[in-house]
Amino acid sequence: MFAKSIDDTSSRFVAAHVAALPKSGIRDFFAIASQMRDAVSLGIGEPDFVTPFGIREAAVRAIEKGRTSYTDNRGLRSLRDAVSRYVAANYGPEYNPDTEIIVTIGVSQALDHTLRAILNPGDKVLYHDPCYVSYAPSVALCHAQAIAVPTRAENDFALTPEALRAAWQPGCKALLLNFPTNPTGATASRELLAQIAKFAVEKDLLVISDEIYSELTYDGAHTSIAALPGMRERTVFLHGFSKAFAMTGWRIGYACGPAGVMDAVLKIHQYGIMCASIVSQEAALEALANGRDDMLRMRDKYRERRDLIVRRFNELGLPCHLPRGAFYAFPRVSVTGQNSLDFAMGLLRAERVALVPGTAFGAAGDGFCRASFSTSYDNIIKACDRIDRHLQTLRR
Ligand code: PMP
Repeated sequence: MFAKSIDDTSSRFVAAHVAALPKSGIRDFFAIASQMRDAVSLGIGEPDFVTPFGIREAAVRAIEKGRTSYTDNRGLRSLRDAVSRYVAANYGPEYNPDTEIIVTIGVSQALDHTLRAILNPGDKVLYHDPCYVSYAPSVALCHAQAIAVPTRAENDFALTPEALRAAWQPGCKALLLNFPTNPTGATASRELLAQIAKFAVEKDLLVISDEIYSELTYDGAHTSIAALPGMRERTVFLHGFSKAFAMTGWRIGYACGPAGVMDAVLKIHQYGIMCASIVSQEAALEALANGRDDMLRMRDKYRERRDLIVRRFNELGLPCHLPRGAFYAFPRVSVTGQNSLDFAMGLLRAERVALVPGTAFGAAGDGFCRASFSTSYDNIIKACDRIDRHLQTLRR
């Protein structure tokens, strides 16, 4: 262990807008959980499956063949071709692999670079709340302002055009969407997306659509807003391999969009990153070529677990809407009289079950907790039995 430096005043060098960022609410919580023996965690934000064997094999083969170099800044041509075909077949829009697709280090980098490419200081970005923890900080890192559009459990956390209109203000330049949504599992029908698209056109917004969970849609078909008339030219479609193909550790994703925006994204990417790892790109190529059956097998497992956890939460008296995508349930815990953090802390200490307080995902998450069902069926049963016991103690 290193001794903590007693006169570390280096924080004076930190930029004001970075110092002002809150620390991720999830990390603190899991630091506590990880110290506990026998804890059951429903806090995980990634697949509990390892990457399918064939994909791992492809990466091993690439290394054995000496595929160890940089690639084209935009990514391997073969992968961009495959992405172009995959997106056209599954989402609709056709993207030119030469000018409209960039392979990135996950959706994380794709999102960061898209925001940096479009935002001037003071610009505003609308996003739906609750949402993935990175959105508002990523906007703040661009010296821009994130404007939350609250969504509500009463309508399954759908993003309504009314809420969008109420939140809009002069200076809004972009709209950041994530369907299916982390943490609520909300999806958007074609009809709803058409209304959102109309709003985006009316207000001349660029739409950044994070569709990382799209293959993990359990009810109905997933529609991309990029596929709606007039939207391709004002949408940046973000996707990756982390969730559907259980490839979080490979750090691989992509951004597709109109060339004008993608050229700007490429400038940041080529100076800051150069390219995604060639080994991960080879693995991603295999995922698109032959990974579908494995992906569907994992999706079916998530669906079974979803049905179990949602049924159990409702039986236990924690009202929980049916998440139609992603792998998170978002039960209302305020029925216990406690707020999200107190409930999650109390449950963790009393029963060693880790849920993520809903407030980690934004103010509209208060009163809820996120429970990931990216864990085994047995773990879900164990966690629900413990939650049952905790609720009985709270009722006494
Ligand atoms: N977007 C959402 C909505 C996410 O939940 C996550 C990961 N939890 C990411 C992006 C980051 O994905 P990647 O691993 O591709 O960077």
